[in-house]
Amino acid sequence: MTPLLELRGLVRRYGGLVATDHLDLAVAEGEMHAIIGPNGAGKTTLIHQISGGLAPDEGSIVFHGQDITALPMNERVRLGLARSYQITNIFRQCTVLDNLALAVQARHGSSMRFWRAAISESALFDEARALAHKIGLDRRLEAPAGSLAHGEQRMLEVGLALATRPRMLLLDEPMAGMGPKESRSLMPLIQSLGQELTVLLVEHDMETVFQLADRISVLVSGRVIATGTPGEIRHNAEVRKAYLGDE
Ligand code: ATP
Repeated sequence: MTPLLELRGLVRRYGGLVATDHLDLAVAEGEMHAIIGPNGAGKTTLIHQISGGLAPDEGSIVFHGQDITALPMNERVRLGLARSYQITNIFRQCTVLDNLALAVQARHGSSMRFWRAAISESALFDEARALAHKIGLDRRLEAPAGSLAHGEQRMLEVGLALATRPRMLLLDEPMAGMGPKESRSLMPLIQSLGQELTVLLVEHDMETVFQLADRISVLVSGRVIATGTPGEIRHNAEVRKAYLGDE
């Protein structure tokens, strides 16, 4: 089967340091594919290259059959590749509903020149409400985004990414900064996203990864040392030695 996302021989250097080292990776349509690896393995660097924030020095990125290596971020979003940010990009003073409505409007193009073609106000807010429902924030519609709990803000960021109607979602540490209880409460939500679209998940929380992912790729020193199902990865001797510290 043709992968939805394919990375071929990707290289990214920072001076003398090779952060992405001839990396190959294929993500199939519909799967929840997780990337794990020790600190400094190159996970963030990799996600930046896929989303378009950082150019690789070598190699190519193919999305849905198209070489996107040289495309800017906004064009990747238009092709259906969206990212939820580890750094928050919500409008803190605006309500949850308005944040989502703005994101939906952005997809339709907010230029005045094209205002006639833009979505009607009722359709805009209907879609924003549906998104709020999907991310579990339908009871917080009128709350200023800045007043949300940390976990709720992370979900709002996911909602903003979903407003672009992605085919594939890059989820960069959705559980970052959360306690075990809050993390667990987000699991069903991430699971339901995985049933609707292709997800590439970078996450430190191993419990989350092993429960949610269809396949896991293990990144060590900028290279994928293994890809497999959670069961395969758990029992892979090379992974246990390089990552989990086994002898
Ligand atoms: P963590 O799990 O700690 O977030 P990571 O797997 O996301 O780590 P990266 O942040 O991608 O790893 O870093 C990979 C390597 O590249 C590390 O050695 C890091 O120090 C280095 N690095 C990352 N960004 C830069 C930069 N802007 N300039 C120089 N070196 C960098």
